[in-house]
Amino acid sequence: MSAVRTTCPYCGVGCGIVASPTGPRDVAIKGDKTHPANRGKLCSKGTHLGETVGLEGRLLHPMIGDSRVTWDMALDDVAARLADTVVNYGPDSVAFYVSGQLLTEDYYVANKLMKGFIGSGNIDTNSRLCMASAVAAHTRAFGEDLVPCTYADLYAADLIVLVGSNTAWCHPVIWQQIEAARERTGCKLVVIDPRRTETAERADLHVSLAPDGDLALFNALLAEMAGRGKLDTDYLAAHCEVPEGFIAGLDAAAHGIDPAIFDKLAELVAAHPRMVTVFSMGVNQSVCGTDKANAIINLHLATGRIGLPGAGPFSMTGQPNAMGGREVGGLANMLACHLGFTDDERAAVRQFWNAPNLCSGPGLKAVDMFRAVHDGRIRFLWIMATNPAVSMPDAMYVREALARCPNVVVSDVIADTDTTRFAHVRLPALAWSEKDGTVTNSERVISRQRPFFLPPGEARADWLALCHVAQRLGHAEAFAFDGPAAVFREYAAMTALCAERGKVLDLTGMADISDTAYDALEPSRWGGEHPLRTRYPTPSGKARLVAVTAPAQMPGLRLNTGRYRDQWHTMTRTGLSPRLSAHRREPLLEVSPGDAAVIGLVDGGLGRVTTPAGTAVFRVAVSEWQAPGHAFVPIHWTDAMASSSRTGALVVPATDPHSGQPGFKNVAASLTPV
Ligand code: SF4
Repeated sequence: MSAVRTTCPYCGVGCGIVASPTGPRDVAIKGDKTHPANRGKLCSKGTHLGETVGLEGRLLHPMIGDSRVTWDMALDDVAARLADTVVNYGPDSVAFYVSGQLLTEDYYVANKLMKGFIGSGNIDTNSRLCMASAVAAHTRAFGEDLVPCTYADLYAADLIVLVGSNTAWCHPVIWQQIEAARERTGCKLVVIDPRRTETAERADLHVSLAPDGDLALFNALLAEMAGRGKLDTDYLAAHCEVPEGFIAGLDAAAHGIDPAIFDKLAELVAAHPRMVTVFSMGVNQSVCGTDKANAIINLHLATGRIGLPGAGPFSMTGQPNAMGGREVGGLANMLACHLGFTDDERAAVRQFWNAPNLCSGPGLKAVDMFRAVHDGRIRFLWIMATNPAVSMPDAMYVREALARCPNVVVSDVIADTDTTRFAHVRLPALAWSEKDGTVTNSERVISRQRPFFLPPGEARADWLALCHVAQRLGHAEAFAFDGPAAVFREYAAMTALCAERGKVLDLTGMADISDTAYDALEPSRWGGEHPLRTRYPTPSGKARLVAVTAPAQMPGLRLNTGRYRDQWHTMTRTGLSPRLSAHRREPLLEVSPGDAAVIGLVDGGLGRVTTPAGTAVFRVAVSEWQAPGHAFVPIHWTDAMASSSRTGALVVPATDPHSGQPGFKNVAASLTPV
């Protein structure tokens, strides 16, 4: 087979890849020089994808319990469990928990089945853990979940501000672009992060602050810019709704930040109107994540720094298709195509799908969904392409929930994960290298994931397994898709509902795309370069500044969690690569020298972390980069690796009231030597 152009399955940068198969399961990987996201560059994870495409540990056949069965038997069983549960307990007794690893076509079919035909809003995604706060903030400010920037803005900016993002490790090709932009244009770089990281090390200014201190910081920056006469009053008057007395009433104190550092930051912000603020998990994964994102957006709106080259708030998504999932309604609080649950929007969706049983309102978000599984309100759960027994907050509670649930179906590529151990039915899914569909990256570019290996064993596309279940439930006509292109065409046509209501997402130009053209689809951005400047998809046509109040700082030691450079999620794929595993062979508990001395932790020794949710043991790394009172652990390790260092078990399931996103980065914790 000749070289195939596809897209990296890891982070939301969405790098193009040229995959050249060299054997039945061997492939040479290169960056795609023609892809606008990366122009040929790849990070370590993308570069070593070839080491992760073997069949080691693959789930190759449908299984009921420990018995191998045919697909027909498995699908009959899943459909019967689903139908019986709905008949006996109602549509809200069933749920799908899906993933930013799914392709847009998988997501679309899952959402259509649950919200349109089963009649429940109970489909949520692990993207809830990733960027739901950015979605809620965009919707509050802009009237639609819209990222107003593109990667080209990094090259046009005079100042790049990274908030809550270790970009050098977590979005490495964006980091390479930031470094290239600095070299080319001399633009300044500020990193706002409680930790000193590889990213902060390279910044012109590192602003260290308390966990969740960024809300007070951005409110104070806005007050400071107002005091310096740096607001764009014409833009505010013409294009923004501002709450009465909001700016005059802002708290000007950037609590806990060295005044000299704040002054330097304010000088940089005041002097550089072409400013892009890139924000990521440190903002989103918080019980006040939506307010934090809105504080960032407020600053950009009030200074007119949006919708122009080199200016805007830029949410960087974590997963490869978090954005595509948002577009087709993968979140429980959205319907599809950026539509909500007003009577008008519901009627339009019902008519478009000819849906017999459209859900009446939003479903349960991830944390609440697993609570409902735990207490028996949800009795059927279909999990696709994610490992919630490790990754959800309070992971031990989630395991209890799964153990209690009478019907757990898991679609996955891996036979034995911490989650598949709870499955009554396991369905073998296609992996990257076999999947065929589309993803949308952080800058709204839709790219193709193309197959270059044949499906192994009996693995099958997720959208197809969903259609086969839907057909067994009596919905053959609505789920008669003959390939991913047919699913994409229907989704593209459906965006007319969104466009007709003044929103920006509009793919109707691709509604008649042929199978051949879909196969050959080049990376395509929806919404253009700068969709937001003078008209916003709100009822007034104006953007909304949102009054947000900084939370009180919490006392005691706070636990932060995050990624390592060379691992991804729960390591089911990156753990297969010897070279990636060589970067960090075990999870480390990072603590400051002062805290280590007081607590009695020794570099290289073992330390126990205890939180209200649970306890876990890690090897200790004493680090000058860790601020006093803060500790850090990585998220990746699992039971399936015989590890006692499960971070999910430590995170309390407190969530943001607007987005439902859990606060992974600010957990009360105590440390003890082991
Ligand atoms: Fe893949 Fe992200 Fe690395 Fe690009 S930056 S190669 S998308 S992991």
